[in-house]
Amino acid sequence: ISKKHIKNYDYKYFYNVKEIGAGGFGKVYRANWKNTYNYLALKSLFNLNNSTIKEIVNELKLQREVDFNENIIRFFGIATDQNDNSKKYWLVMEYADNGTLQEYLKKKFDILTWNDKINLGLQLAHAVSCLHDEEIVHRDLHSNNVLVHQDTIKLADFGLSKRIEETSNLQSSKLFGVIPYVDPKSFNGKYYKLNKKSDVYSIGILLWEISSGKPPFYVEGNSYDISLAINILQGLREDPIPNTPEDYVKIYTDCWKSEPDDRPTVNEVVSKLHEILPEKNVKYIS
Ligand code: ATP
Repeated sequence: ISKKHIKNYDYKYFYNVKEIGAGGFGKVYRANWKNTYNYLALKSLFNLNNSTIKEIVNELKLQREVDFNENIIRFFGIATDQNDNSKKYWLVMEYADNGTLQEYLKKKFDILTWNDKINLGLQLAHAVSCLHDEEIVHRDLHSNNVLVHQDTIKLADFGLSKRIEETSNLQSSKLFGVIPYVDPKSFNGKYYKLNKKSDVYSIGILLWEISSGKPPFYVEGNSYDISLAINILQGLREDPIPNTPEDYVKIYTDCWKSEPDDRPTVNEVVSKLHEILPEKNVKYIS
């Protein structure tokens, strides 16, 4: 997968294994390894066909290129069960103890200060800037793909990420992603390729979400539908939450502008957030 060292773990040395979630590929667990205290995350990869395995390898390759950054989930290696000849595999990754950004905001929103919120946004933008520097576009940023360990953002799920030169034309019929986070240019632009500015759009939505504590256009029990996509395409955006610093509103509304050329680069977002961060000594660069 990469020249960097990938560890092989024998599954039998994991203990305290506990299920923590389920995703497209299978269940996710947290566990201790041998005599260590820190938890690791295990993603089970059972019964996969070759094309899914290829996709996963692609995802890991991209993740490995950038996971030296503190704000990106680290991939450590692969676990196999030596006692089981059914060939089960698990991906072994850094564990994020506060779960997804969405869960974190639900739990912690009431105690977050503006400094905390801006710092979360800054870490997120920083993680994405690291991807963009490597010419990688994430293409699927939303609050369930961003994890949080303690109070540190850990970007995850590179499933749809691509190197820029590999991004293919996206047919409008193949709408993917979570509607309110997806660059609306792709809704009707038959040949529009999701690009760096599409990630900036998603960051804008996530900055709003960090200021609100709730996902955009959220109605309990409702899922997003195509009529929302149409409204967004026609310019619908969430209103600022009362008492949000004006400069912060300006940053996210610039990010979610309809025209990609009007949106800032992610590096500009990083420096603008840094400028308005009340306590400048917070660590966000690895
Ligand atoms: P898909 O695999 O289709 O992209 P997904 O993003 O929902 O789906 P996973 O990445 O497999 O699924 O994760 C499922 C859930 O497990 C997450 O929503 C999160 O709550 C939890 N999870 C995943 N990875 C970790 C991790 N490294 N640390 C802590 N929790 C995690």
